[in-house]
Amino acid sequence: MECSCGGALIEGRSTYRKGSEHYFFTLENIPAFQCTRCGKVLFTDEIVEKIRKLEHRIERDANEIVTGKPSVRLGDYS
Ligand SMILES: [Zn+2]
Repeated sequence: MECSCGGALIEGRSTYRKGSEHYFFTLENIPAFQCTRCGKVLFTDEIVEKIRKLEHRIERDANEIVTGKPSVRLGDYS
């Protein structure tokens, strides 16, 4: 695995955040790679897939609860 800039990647942990009108979602402790040259954070396909599934579940839950206020969700990847 290599960054699009050609820089070397180091393994670490990252946080993924996504917000919308109805909810705000933070996922912590995600295994990630960071480029030592440009600083870009990359996830493997497997991890991207898992984030996508968690996101869908949270979106579905958020749509069922209409409070008028955005709900805040905190997830832990591990
Ligand atoms: Zn890079």
